[in-house]
This record gives sequence, structure tokens and C-alpha cells, in this order.
Amino acid sequence: MRGALGGSGVLLRRLREVMAAPVSPQERLDRLVVVIAGNLVAEVCSVYVLREDSSLELYATEGLNREAVHLTTMRAGEGLVGLIASDAEPLALSDAQAHPAFSYRPETGEEIYRSFLGVPILRGGAVMGVLVVQNRASRLYSEDEVESLQTTAMIMAEMIAAGGLKALSKPGATIGLDRPIHSIGTTLADGVGLGHAVLHEPRVAITNLIAEDPGREVQRLEAAIATMRLAIDELIERGDVAHTGEHRDVLETFRMFAHDQGWLRRMREVVMTGLTAEAAVERVQSDTRAKMLRQTDPYLRERLHDLDDLANRLLRTLVGKSNGVTREDLPENAILIARSMGPAALLDYDRRHLRGVVLEEGGPTSHIAIVARALGIPAVGEIANATALIQAGDAVIVDGQAGEVQIRPQPDVENAYKDKARLRARKQEQYRKLKTQAAVTKDGVEIQLQINAGLLVDMANLDETNASGVGLFRTELQFMVAQHMPTTAEQQALYGAVLKVANGRPITFRTLDIGGDKVLPYMERLEEENPALGWRAIRIGLDRPRLLRGQVRALLRAGAGCDMKIMLPMIATVNEFLRARLLVRREVAMLERDGRHGPTSLKLGVMVEVPSLLFELPEIAREADFLSIGTNDLMQFLFAADRENKRVSERFDPLSAAGLRALRSIVDEAGKADCPVTVCGEMGGKPIETLALIALGYRSFSMSAASVGPVKAMLRALDAGKARQRLDAWLGSSDGAASLRPLLSALATEMKVPV
Ligand code: PEP
Ligand code: MG
Repeated sequence: MRGALGGSGVLLRRLREVMAAPVSPQERLDRLVVVIAGNLVAEVCSVYVLREDSSLELYATEGLNREAVHLTTMRAGEGLVGLIASDAEPLALSDAQAHPAFSYRPETGEEIYRSFLGVPILRGGAVMGVLVVQNRASRLYSEDEVESLQTTAMIMAEMIAAGGLKALSKPGATIGLDRPIHSIGTTLADGVGLGHAVLHEPRVAITNLIAEDPGREVQRLEAAIATMRLAIDELIERGDVAHTGEHRDVLETFRMFAHDQGWLRRMREVVMTGLTAEAAVERVQSDTRAKMLRQTDPYLRERLHDLDDLANRLLRTLVGKSNGVTREDLPENAILIARSMGPAALLDYDRRHLRGVVLEEGGPTSHIAIVARALGIPAVGEIANATALIQAGDAVIVDGQAGEVQIRPQPDVENAYKDKARLRARKQEQYRKLKTQAAVTKDGVEIQLQINAGLLVDMANLDETNASGVGLFRTELQFMVAQHMPTTAEQQALYGAVLKVANGRPITFRTLDIGGDKVLPYMERLEEENPALGWRAIRIGLDRPRLLRGQVRALLRAGAGCDMKIMLPMIATVNEFLRARLLVRREVAMLERDGRHGPTSLKLGVMVEVPSLLFELPEIAREADFLSIGTNDLMQFLFAADRENKRVSERFDPLSAAGLRALRSIVDEAGKADCPVTVCGEMGGKPIETLALIALGYRSFSMSAASVGPVKAMLRALDAGKARQRLDAWLGSSDGAASLRPLLSALATEMKVPV
């Protein structure tokens, strides 16, 4: 039977004595290897520690030549020790020298030992070193011996993590714990932030590793498992969780893991080796993590998070609350590190101290990305194993622009980023100075600059940028960050608050633009072949009129006494607009019939973002009160190139003859019908693109708050008339060039326009 190991209990008791002895770190290591070798009846026991340069240095040995300590190193992947470090798996061999990875090191004198057992020293799934025992005779190590060595390795991991071994390294080398790491992920929110790591949900610190009474530890573990199962059952049965669809599936998977016999048996077995219940949970989770992190199957990797969650729940039950910072007392210059984080959790932190966010998960369209962008906090996602690699307090640089993270950076890297941040700050300062200056071109053309918003938190940007209003309020963001479908009253409350903050400045509310990549967690997910071309935005609104009508009602009520502007996303035909207008008019009539106050005036506009509308321009410009161009979608559909797919999204340039002619036809037709037109897609917020748009005749833009400064600086230096002449000429004699960008750049340089 595996499990209750008398030998292991003795080993752990002896290890505890060594750990408690008042000796130097080297002496402690030297004693540990003697104890381990003796207990496992091995002639050799050696500890290798992972260094900053990814090599493994021999730190202590019983049995090999002592002179080799701090001299012998193995490169990552080299020899059996290197192999264990790179696979993060134990390796037991009865004839080590026959193994193809065996590498002979004469200075160690290990040629006489035939059998070999090595285990990785793991912490949080990250390899910190390798622990090895060897015997002269050819023998097979038992499962119990592998288990004992793994348990011992866990104690070593804590010793390394505590930092006691740092001073022992060979001169000039540092151990892996502190090595700088440059990790590439994906951009969630732009900007550069420097600071020190704060773990969103810190690891529960385990101080008590070795059990006094294994029987009691089994009982503690069983009790914690029972508590955890109960909590999960309650979570599933609770009324506020959607009872169908994907959400339910996720929770059921969670429940399945909580009852997984293999996982639970492993933990019980480890407790029986003499570890405390919490140490056993940590051990098993660390092993599982190390194995699963090497999986490429996204499904399996996703399941790792479920297991992590469960392990953390168990640890919290066993040890009590984690000892992290509270959200209010965040230190200065905090970089938040999390596996994943709900958008609401980010809003809980004191934004004044937050310099950046690093996540293991989270793509550019995730909700957390939306909130980080709204708050102006640089954020990077998809940094594998970030929570294990980064310790609280570590220096971290978040480069949101490049989608990269520097962990414990070298001084030169840190200085380079400090320069980058300073440059950015200087530019921001220049833009701030422009705040009170008019948005007028050099030749006297007035340009309207508004901002895009979607949450109450980004309304502060109105004052910060001095923009004239909000040209695009993405109402779906409230729906995306909520746990449940916002009620009409909740919607009305948000719109009312937004109008209040705007204090008379115009707000253009866009009705729900969901579907496609904008998925509501509590709504049943539709499997569609091409979601971007599928059931989304106004299509859902017209097919599920209750949803749209409820929103329009909330808007009309919130806008009582105000000039209201509402626009409709993804309108593909004039007929769709007429149907939606009818619905809005019915709501207005109902409001009047009920004797309620409504808006002083109501303008109903159309987003131009589906190319079919380009062939009904005179009609739509006649019917709609205003047009707003969603260049993000318009260009994706015009060029049939997915805006989220990097392979193709940059393949076609909106500043090409095709893109610019499409945009010219809209501004021309709108002009003929005297219909106001704004550009609210990203294109309007990029100086060189905005230059081209002004040259085409556009006079109104709505953009992210961060773009207002650069665009204003550009346009104040621009001669719009001259730019128009040039662009007209280029478009009149298009020569098949992929893009007019180089010509526009040259023009900007010639006119000394900063772009
Ligand atoms: C657009 O498509 O350009 C737009 C502004 O809408 P969204 O980015 O929200 O789809
Ligand atoms: Mg759009």
C-alpha cells in the first residue's frame, strides 16, 4: 500500500530538526543532504539550484566530490539534471549511464553510481532546482521513495524562496528566483507603467509544512474538502447564477473537479507522508501546475485554472485568509498581478496608485481590458505563469503598447523605460497645455473634438481633455461588466449619471452593440460560424424588441429635459433604420401618453459601418438626423479583413484609394443632404488618419481621450485647404499604390505637422 510511511515520518522529523538548527545556510544544506541520503539509503544526495542564467548549480552534496559544490553547473536541458528541470517531472533510472541524456562530469566522481532518482524542486509550478539521490548498485526506486524525495524537495523550495541561499552562489551568479524575465503577451491597454508587484489574490503563505500528527491532518483535509464542496454546491444553486448555458457548464466542471477522486486521493496520500494538510494541497497543486503548464491543449490549460481555484479555496479554509494588501491601502506605484480578474475587481482598487496590470489570461476584447482602457491603466494579458514568476514587491514594468512585461528588470532596461515614461509624460504635459486652445486648423477651419466613453469612470476625461462632448457612448460596456442583465432602472440610473457629469455637453448614446466578440456572460451564447457577420447589434435589437425598447425607454427617461442623441449600430439598410425609428417613436409616444417628461429634443442617428449603406447614402442621409462613421467595422467589412486578426487586420490600409474614396463618398453625400457627420472609429483618433479625414472634408471626430491631445496638436499646425488639394490630386490619379500613407507622411513633414 502507498501512503502511511513510517520512513517518511522519520525523515520529516529529522528535516525539521535540521531546519531549526542555528547554523549557516550552507551548513544547513550540507546537513539536509546527509539526512536525505541516510533516510533513502542512498550513497549520494545532491541539490542543484536554478540560477538566473537558467543553468543549474550544484549547491550541496553528500557522496559526490565536495570540491565540485558551487563549481559544477548544468545548462538547461543538459544531462539528467537539466532534463528534470526542463520537464519538471521526476526521473527514476536503474542504469543512469545508459540514458541518452546522461552527461559525465569528471569533477563530481559520479561515474561509479548506476541508479539515479531526481525530482524537480517546484514552487507554484515553477522549477527552482533539482534534488537527486544516487546508488552504486542498479536498483529500482519505489514510488514511496519518489514521493519522499518530492516532499523533501518542497521543503527545499520554501528554503530557496525564503532567500536564505542567495549569498551562496558562485561569484557573479544569482539564483533563478531573482532573475530578470522579459515576457511577451498581448496588449490590453496602452501606456507604460513602472512599479512594484501587488498580487491580486496572493498565494496563501504556508509556514507549517511538517505535521505533528498525520491523523489529525487527514481530518483537517477532509473537513476542508467538505466545506469546499458545500460552498460550490451553494454557488451553483444560488439564484443569481444563470441556470443554463455556458456559465452553468463551467460551474459543473468545477463541481466535477471538487469530487475528482484522483485529485483528492493524491492529497490524502501526501498528507500520509507526514506533511500538514495545507502543505499537501500545495504540493499536489504545484505538481499538477507544472504538468499542465506544459500542455498546449487550451482546454486542459483552462482546467488548470479550475484546479487552482479549488486548491486556493482549500488553502484559505485550512490557513485562513491570505495576507495580501487590501484594495484601499494599495501602495504607491502598484502593478497588479493576477491570473484573471473581473472588471469589477479592478474598479475596487484605488486607481491613483495603480500603474499597471499584468494578467495570465485576458485577451484584448476581454472585459478587464475594456475597463483598464477606460481607466487609462497600462495592461498586458496572456503572460504565462505570471503569478508564480512574480513575487510581491518585485519591480515590474508594464509596456502596454508593445504587450510586454519586464520582471525584475536590469538597471539599463529600467532606465530605458523610465526615459520612455518620461517622454510620454512630457508629451502629455504639452497636450495638457493645448487643453484650453481652440481646435482650429492653421487656415481657420473649426474642428469638433469629442471623446468616446462607455462607463461612468471615463466621463472624468471630458474635463481632462476639455472635449466638447461624448460622440460615442458605448452602452454595451455597462452590460459587459455586469454580473446580470442590467434592469431598465439600472440603465436609466447610469444614463442619468452620465448626463449629469456632462453638465450640458452633448452625449451621443449608442444603443446596445452586442454579439460578435461582445459577449454578455449571462446571455446564452450562440454558436455562429461567422459571429462578426452574425446576429449582433441592431439585428438583435430588432428581433428582440423588448431589449431595445427597454433601453430606449431608459434613455428617454434619463434624458428628461435634455437634448438627447441616440444612434443605432450596424445599420445595413435604410429599411432597418426606418424599423428602428418606428420603435423609438412608439416609445416616445408611450412616454407622452403616460404623462412623463421626455427629452427636450431627440436626434436619432445611424452608425455607418456596414458597406451596403454606402449604396444608399442619399436616402440614409435624408432620413437620419446624423451619421457617425464606425471606421473599425467599416474597414473590416470593406476589405473583408477581421479587425481582431493580426494576420489580416494590417494587410489593407484605410489610407488607400479604396478606403479614402469610400469615406469621401459619405462626407460628400452627407454634405449634400445637410446631415451632420462624425467619425467615431479609431481612425479619427490617429493624427495622420485624422489629417486625411480633414482633407476629405470631415469636421467632427470622436476618439479615445488619450488621442485628443495628439490630434489637436496635429490639426492646429495643419493647412486643411492645402491638404485637400493634394489629396484630391492623389485620389484623382491613383496609381494602384497599396497606400497613400507615405505621401501623407511626406506632406505632414513638409507642412511641419506633428503626426
Ligand atoms: C466602429 O466600428 O468603428 C465603432 C466605433 O464601433 P465599435 O468599435 O464599438 O464596434
Ligand atoms: Mg462598430
